[in-house]
Amino acid sequence: MDHRPYRVAQELELLLGDPEDPESAFPHALSLELDEREEFPAPICRALESWGLQEYYIPAEYGGRLTDYETVMQVMRVVARRDLTVAIGHGKTYLGGVCVWVSGSESQARRLAEDIRSGVPVSLALTERAHGSDLLAGDVLGEPDGSGGWRLTGEKWLINNATRGSLLSVLTRTHPEGGPRGFTVLLVDKRTLTQGEHYRCVPKIPTHGIRGADISGIAFDGAPVPAGAAVGAEGTGLETVLKALQLTRTMCSSLSLGAADHALRIALDFAERRELYGRRLVELPQARHVLASAAADVLAGEALATVAARSVHTATDELSVAAAVTKYLLPTGTEAVIAELTRLLGARAFLKGVHARGMFQKVDRDHRIVGLFDGNTLVNLNALVNQFRTLARGWQRGTGDTAGAARAFDLRTELEPLEPERLSLVARRGSGIMATLPESVAALREEAARRPELKGALGPAERLLTAAGRIHEEMDTYRSVVGDVPPQAFDVARRYSLVLAGAAALGLWAHNHRTGSAGRTAGLWQDAVWLWPVLDRLLVRLGEQHTGEPEAYPRLLEHLRAATAAGELFSLLPLRLHSAPAAGTVPAGAPAPARGSAGPATAGTHSTPVHTDTGTPPDSGSGHPRGRHAE
Ligand SMILES: Cc1cc2nc3c(=O)[nH]c(=O)nc-3n(C[C@H](O)[C@H](O)[C@H](O)COP(=O)(O)OP(=O)(O)OC[C@H]3O[C@@H](n4cnc5c(N)ncnc54)[C@H](O)[C@@H]3O)c2cc1C
Repeated sequence: MDHRPYRVAQELELLLGDPEDPESAFPHALSLELDEREEFPAPICRALESWGLQEYYIPAEYGGRLTDYETVMQVMRVVARRDLTVAIGHGKTYLGGVCVWVSGSESQARRLAEDIRSGVPVSLALTERAHGSDLLAGDVLGEPDGSGGWRLTGEKWLINNATRGSLLSVLTRTHPEGGPRGFTVLLVDKRTLTQGEHYRCVPKIPTHGIRGADISGIAFDGAPVPAGAAVGAEGTGLETVLKALQLTRTMCSSLSLGAADHALRIALDFAERRELYGRRLVELPQARHVLASAAADVLAGEALATVAARSVHTATDELSVAAAVTKYLLPTGTEAVIAELTRLLGARAFLKGVHARGMFQKVDRDHRIVGLFDGNTLVNLNALVNQFRTLARGWQRGTGDTAGAARAFDLRTELEPLEPERLSLVARRGSGIMATLPESVAALREEAARRPELKGALGPAERLLTAAGRIHEEMDTYRSVVGDVPPQAFDVARRYSLVLAGAAALGLWAHNHRTGSAGRTAGLWQDAVWLWPVLDRLLVRLGEQHTGEPEAYPRLLEHLRAATAAGELFSLLPLRLHSAPAAGTVPAGAPAPARGSAGPATAGTHSTPVHTDTGTPPDSGSGHPRGRHAE
């Protein structure tokens, strides 16, 4: 099945060339070198801008290429898969601008679009030295200047691109008492201020991950900010930020997916080549289990991220749920995948410059920030606890936007432009994605009655449905929690997230398995090859008994190996990577990639046939791909 978001992402991927070629636009060697020197990846960002990456941060109505969030998610996944520092350092401009897309005026949005198009970095400045998640505690003060504008004083700290950027969306206390109506987002333009007099930049703060990023801050001292800088009406800052964060939290999934893609590829490459006890590591049952479980977790994340990104358009007023689940589950899921793969890699995960030049360790370090910023793990679970009342009631009544959820599941549905005014702080009727779970399970039940090969996936689907009923009952007991959230309620929110991911996976499979059963990823969709292990893994993570069904995984693992050997991203839908596969690189016993997978190399790839992962001529005697990450 050919799907536009993957096609656009593939276009960028192919243009960026072979990351193992130091002469290409975005090579791993350069990423590692800049990371070592803690230097901003400016040359790589310039290459991305020549393709027009920044256009994807600008909604189409203002002349950009942001037509739908699913495409942006896949595009940023490709960038993150190569280097998270670049994805976060460059993608930050979307976060910087998003408050204007949500609440700004038409003229403000058009001016901002021009700046972003010309490559001006934009920051989002919420955090202060003394206040992180507690947005209502912010001390940066905007005092009225008597002519409708403000004089800004105070420090925003730990701000991505605060020094390099020219524009900042600053959450400002505009009423001395603060409170929900006491803050305003001001779009501050440093170019109109005098450095040293109105503001000074806080020096770069050294970090363990994304070392090259400009994580700094800015201290204002009576900086004049005109009335026209207010994004939305005075006092609406908190609401604007909370709505904007629903979009950015959904998009953070691209960072976690890209990191997981990269980590999985490095680990598989090692397992394919490492020989011990007279066999290759990939042939040992435990290693196979780790790789297959990781593969299932990556696809579970991809299914959820896809549905959530599409639901930005199709079920906008329920994004408060999908965004919180996604921002909780994708980063923690990838952290767990990386932890398991670390054990598989053994010493190679610890050594610098040996396997994959030590890139695995950079992926690990870099990714840790994704679960911390833009609302950390607990903040997102807390956001779900705050909605337990409506979510439990919606489940009991079967309400929620099920039609919107169905449009999110069905990949043939064209997405309408986002209407930001439909964003809501609470999903009042519950979650439509969750409400479809009973009908998705019923559809699978019906299908499995005709096709016994689907019975494997049906088992965990039924169990997920039972778990959903139980979890909603537990949620109901915490429906009145305000303020201090007990640890048990956080755990209920965690389990709710896993069940919602299952509902997303089932909905996606139910609506697309017929069209999905054609093209280069056909083998994953036929016989629910991806769905069974994904649902089984969700049950494992839910802590259910008698899970880890061994039969669910072997075919998935062989697809992972075949896709990797064929130069494809391991994903639900086709995305060709930088170079074409050479004949004979598919691991012995792996299913042959469907027709069309071995397309010719295009922009940025070698013109002569090479092993996808070796850069050497095909060696028909090897029978398996030899990784090119030289040791
Ligand atoms: C590399 C990097 C880049 C960043 N970029 C930006 C940026 O561009 N713009 C920006 O505004 N900020 C940015 N930040 C700041 C980041 O968003 C905050 O650090 C984040 O909100 C978490 O806050 P905190 O951990 O610093 O402190 P706090 O939020 O005060 O958290 C302290 C502890 O309290 C816990 N906690 C928080 N909320 C709850 C809750 N509801 N229930 C229970 N426990 C809770 C946390 O888990 C944590 O353990 C960045 C941070 C880093 C490290």
